[in-house]
Amino acid sequence: MRTRTIVGLSLAGLVAVTATAGWFLRGQIAMAAMERLYGKALSRAPDDGLADGLHVGLCGAGGPMPDPRRAGPCTAILAGKRLFIVDAGSGASRNLSLMNLPPARVEAIFLTHFHSDHIDGLGELMLQRWGGGAATSPVPVHGPTGVDQVVGGFMTAYTLDEGYRIAHHGQKVIPPSGFGGAPLPFVAGEAQPDLVLIDEPDLKVTAFPVRHDPVQPAVGYAFEYKAAG
Ligand SMILES: [Zn+2]
Repeated sequence: MRTRTIVGLSLAGLVAVTATAGWFLRGQIAMAAMERLYGKALSRAPDDGLADGLHVGLCGAGGPMPDPRRAGPCTAILAGKRLFIVDAGSGASRNLSLMNLPPARVEAIFLTHFHSDHIDGLGELMLQRWGGGAATSPVPVHGPTGVDQVVGGFMTAYTLDEGYRIAHHGQKVIPPSGFGGAPLPFVAGEAQPDLVLIDEPDLKVTAFPVRHDPVQPAVGYAFEYKAAG
């Protein structure tokens, strides 16, 4: 009985010591658990386990009205390992990072039309792609007539920040030649139902006009990946 009591007391003491240590180390324990969770979540790109093919992800499914759960319109297209973005609503680039699709991977951006909610994340997306990947050339931005005005406007707004970034991080990390976007306008109309924008052996991207009155022009895009095979 005496031995049992001592053992019981010892166990109680051990539990008390463990609980006390846990209380004082609760911060480190929480951090370790979070690091494990985040490490697990962020260690794999979402396309790591995907078959070679065409995949679509939503990096924003909201609209112009405030919504704490949804970023502005943004669609991520994975053609094999190549990442393309259709529309760049507010919060798009942050969502891409959270999806472990870093903006640095973005090969080109396609804009469907110029409603504010489809373009208000463009400046941030261009900046994150530049700064996050030491890009040496501007990101191509495809869009109907007017895309040069939109891209140029964002680049003008970010001109002061461009200087700050280069001065702060240096030209090796932030190559001046990679700032902003290179607009690639095309004429979208009924006479151009399937305008080929990219025509490569494994990838074809076409633009087609859509009705979104009174917004003109407005287009959709069709992606074909390894379609011939
Ligand atoms: Zn719209």
